[in-house]
Amino acid sequence: MIANTDIKPTWRLSPRWLVAAAVTIVVGFSLICGSVLLTMRRGDEKLAQQTLGNLASSIDAEIARNLELYDMSMRNVANNMTSPELVEVSRNVRQMVLFDYAATARHFGNIQVLDAGGNVTLDSTTLDPQPQNFADAEFFTTHQRDPLFGLYISRPMQHNGAYGIVLSRRIAARDGQFLGVVTGFIHYSYFDEIVARLQLERSDMISVLRQDGVLIARSPFDRALIGRDLSRLPAVQRALAFFSGSHLGEAASDGVSRLYVWRDSSHPLFVMVGRSTDVIFGQWRKEAMQIGGAMGALALIASMLMLVLAREMKKRAAMEDEMARLAMTDGLTGLANRRRFDIVIEKEWQRANRAQQPISLLMIDADHFKAFNDRYGHQAGDLVLCGIAWSIARHGKRASDCAARYGGEEFALILPGLSLHDAIELGERIRREIGSIEREGMTPTTISVGAACLVPSAQNSMMELINKADTALYAAKSLGRNQTYPSSARSSLAA
Ligand code: GH3
Ligand code: MG
Ligand code: MG
Repeated sequence: MIANTDIKPTWRLSPRWLVAAAVTIVVGFSLICGSVLLTMRRGDEKLAQQTLGNLASSIDAEIARNLELYDMSMRNVANNMTSPELVEVSRNVRQMVLFDYAATARHFGNIQVLDAGGNVTLDSTTLDPQPQNFADAEFFTTHQRDPLFGLYISRPMQHNGAYGIVLSRRIAARDGQFLGVVTGFIHYSYFDEIVARLQLERSDMISVLRQDGVLIARSPFDRALIGRDLSRLPAVQRALAFFSGSHLGEAASDGVSRLYVWRDSSHPLFVMVGRSTDVIFGQWRKEAMQIGGAMGALALIASMLMLVLAREMKKRAAMEDEMARLAMTDGLTGLANRRRFDIVIEKEWQRANRAQQPISLLMIDADHFKAFNDRYGHQAGDLVLCGIAWSIARHGKRASDCAARYGGEEFALILPGLSLHDAIELGERIRREIGSIEREGMTPTTISVGAACLVPSAQNSMMELINKADTALYAAKSLGRNQTYPSSARSSLAA
């Protein structure tokens, strides 16, 4: 047992710190990598917002312009119908005056005038319109009910044998009396043609919506959805609330996650363009997988290397510790060796000096050991030395005590804080114990002990303490051995 283990080890990099540093580096790099990938993703999203926004804008503008022109024609009819001059002119002239502005564009159908009873009275394409009555149609009853209703846009429906939306405006007398409605018609194919001109991704979705959230047209065409009120869908809700914007969400119809963008939702019909996030982030995902994968692999390799390194360092540190311990240990007895004794006594001397405490030293030597060896053999001698070492170590049990093999059959016990009196007493206990150890067929070995004690001061030194203990040991030898002899120094702290 080596007491007094309080010798400062040299600083070395702890494997734990190495692992912590590796984890910090890996986490740091991952965060940087993650942030770069996120920025790239945001860039892709922004680009998609711009592209889709421009697309929505251009479709919006096209529909709004055509709708306005067509509406102008209808308003012209509604206004002129109440003009008294028109009553007197011929049917031909009236047809020319009323429908002069009538849109002739493809996909825009004939304009019709319905009287207050819902009967078709005029038609932009013929002087003799077929007798028809739309008194029950919503595009008629709406105006009948509500004098302030402006342009009515129907849900897509079959009208006069074609599929599309019906537009209508109220015809009112100067006193506000309901005189009927003027209707227009946009073929659904109009929306198809707009979409057909565009270069779109397969999963792109274009919706034309009414101001109340009713879906008027959609690409790809879906009969089940056309005409339905979508105002509860989050994207439509946002579009109705905000003039322009975007929304990332899953479509209820096909479960595809899309980015929806709209620009200027104030038009009677506004457009919302959706593109699947697979398309928008497809390239990014590929790159993110590659970069993330490479980063992950590097992090894994780095972590594994660090772990191996940390393990090796741990092993090496343990080996170094063991070697350091062995370098300071006596091989036969397991006590501190001479080198360690020198280090410890120096350190304890300084400590005693700082604390102005006594420090005692016992020098212990086996008596007539040469003769013992000669008589019982070297191996028996070794066993006796181990016994002496065991007894000395047992008695120097405080943490600051240090039992050492000073050389050959000579031992030392450093006893910081112990008075000379206590040191002598301890030396005597050790001497008695060793003297009482009986070995079969052998005479018991005795020891001589020299005890010294000093309080460090400017007038003495550590070497003086060792010399005093040594001198006391020789005094014990010369006085007949098998005894403890105290140093006679005046500076020693006698009990
Ligand atoms: P004294 O009472 O005056 O100390 O007589 P001594 O014989 O003990 O002293 P001396 O210095 O003449 O002899 C010391 C002996 O200790 C010599 C050597 O054989 C023995 N010795 C030293 N180291 C060892 C060791 O490691 N093992 C054994 N067995 N004997 C040792
Ligand atoms: Mg001896
Ligand atoms: Mg000796």
